[in-house]
Amino acid sequence: MSESRTEISSLGEFGLIEHLTKNIELQNASSIVGVGDDAAIIDHFGKQTVITTDLLVEGIHFDLMYTPLKHLGYKSVVVNLSDIYAMNATPTQITVSIAFSNRFSVEALSEFYEGIYAACEKYGVDLVGGDTSSSQKGFVISVTAIGEVAPGKYVRRDTAKKGDLICCSGDLGAAYVGLLFLEREKQIYLESPQVQPDLEGESYVIGRLLKPEARKDIIEFLEIQNIVPTSMMDISDGLSSEILHICEQSRLGCVLYEEKLPVAEEMRKAAFKFEIDPTACALSGGEDYELLFTMSQSDYEKIVLNEQISVIGYMTDADEGMKINTRGGQVHPITAQGWNAFKK
Ligand code: ADP
Ligand code: MG
Repeated sequence: MSESRTEISSLGEFGLIEHLTKNIELQNASSIVGVGDDAAIIDHFGKQTVITTDLLVEGIHFDLMYTPLKHLGYKSVVVNLSDIYAMNATPTQITVSIAFSNRFSVEALSEFYEGIYAACEKYGVDLVGGDTSSSQKGFVISVTAIGEVAPGKYVRRDTAKKGDLICCSGDLGAAYVGLLFLEREKQIYLESPQVQPDLEGESYVIGRLLKPEARKDIIEFLEIQNIVPTSMMDISDGLSSEILHICEQSRLGCVLYEEKLPVAEEMRKAAFKFEIDPTACALSGGEDYELLFTMSQSDYEKIVLNEQISVIGYMTDADEGMKINTRGGQVHPITAQGWNAFKK
């Protein structure tokens, strides 16, 4: 954070909004009216509009002791864009509403907005509005993302078919292990503030928690390959809980294979340091923001060479339940916690 501290009161609410939004240059033709009027106007030119919103509360969803404000701004946008991509849509606009206590300075909020704008630039979305308020305690962030999709091209969670392949992007579980490291160092710091944090070598897992990306690239790849997934969602709460949603809503069962779950070597090593099972992290760790989707078996050849997509199982009849085959050849039921199934 920069050295100087400007009190919010020296700018006032309108001055603050002006300060935070004055450099916006709208990038999308669909952004007709942005910040500065009573409401934004968006024209989606015959496309369908997709809307999602998320609320992030200090102490519940993030901890400012180890979350840089710029990263927090970036992540607040990315988690919403991830939901838009999970509908097979393209995000175009966001609104950002914030409430903060007098602990925050103009510089602190500017840093937060730097992260917001970095995400807007990276994903090609426009910030077109928001709201600003004070709070008694803590920082509250609400982001709404708006996107567009060709009519009928959106992908829901309840339309998977029996026999479909279950696919997931990237790797799983690392953000959760990153959180374990940061929480451990926080406890050590609280007990002995003179001890320097020891996060050497854990930059991958910590980066996965603090600076996630939305899988725009996967949606673009599927489009180029002419693949319309039969169902899709993003993995925010953990693979096991998300696949249960797809199964329940599609009225089907599934089989997953432990050996097919994508895990990064950095995550595996880090999990062993905490003496926890990497598979349990991949199944139950949250905040990966990868995409989980099902597709017809006939599309398999089109994805087989893409190292960012793993086929992890297939959809079955509902009465076969939701199961995972372990490396050791055992079959366990998948629970929302995933975890218990692996405590042998
Ligand atoms: P109103 O009183 O009509 O709600 P505001 O004074 O809250 O209007 O907001 C003025 C303009 O600034 C609006 O276009 C609003 O969307 C935008 N705005 C307010 N707060 C923020 C914020 N935190 N980030 C981005 N835009 C904001
Ligand atoms: Mg307002």
